[in-house]
Amino acid sequence: MSKVDYTLKGYERPKLSTPNGEKKLLMHSCCAPCAGEIMEALAASDINTTIFFYNPNIHPVEEYELRKEENIRFAQKLGMPFVDADYDRDNWFDRTKGQENEPERGERCTTCFDMRFEVTAQYAKDHDFNLISSTLGISRWKDMNQINGCGERATQAFDDIAYWDFNWRKQGGSSRMLEVSKREEFYQQEYCGCVYSLRDTNRWRVSRGREKVERGVKFYQEAMDKLSVQTKG
Ligand code: SF4
Repeated sequence: MSKVDYTLKGYERPKLSTPNGEKKLLMHSCCAPCAGEIMEALAASDINTTIFFYNPNIHPVEEYELRKEENIRFAQKLGMPFVDADYDRDNWFDRTKGQENEPERGERCTTCFDMRFEVTAQYAKDHDFNLISSTLGISRWKDMNQINGCGERATQAFDDIAYWDFNWRKQGGSSRMLEVSKREEFYQQEYCGCVYSLRDTNRWRVSRGREKVERGVKFYQEAMDKLSVQTKG
């Protein structure tokens, strides 16, 4: 039984159902701020969900561990099983060779999503899941069609595994994502994850006279928001 109060500023969570009545779901998770709202929606719907953390794209390893720990923290709070998959970053670098200068949402990201979905689908096959999904699509920085295409492609290799393309952004999902992140004070990463996204984010910042990304220091803060509202009032 989860210890979380799902009440969000008077919002009553609807009961979601899996597309074809599947009994359990393997949910690929990338980072806690994206995953939090989705995990909570699934827990409130009593959908038997296992979190699958497979993100060899995240660089460097300290950032990877921090994002993973934040996922584990929330999965434990919700009582959700968590699978800590391989950090096979050499494989990730091999597969994205030649795509180093692709822009975000370009071919390198397709490779990156493909790889993560392929491993998720294979784990589902090996562990008796017949439905997979991912938290990747809730971010407004991502191309949902690109992600869904990769998810569909990965499951096509298996007759008995489906990809759930639920649109987690709709009906206020994006703002609840922020609300849950603040309530849980999740780590707030400032770049997508790979070394190339870190490079490009820093280039963009420097070109606008801003400081480079400082990894591992920024956390969502509900308390500070409340304080600033009180002070303004
Ligand atoms: S920008 Fe993000 S999605 Fe694209 S390759 Fe890098 S980590 Fe993967």
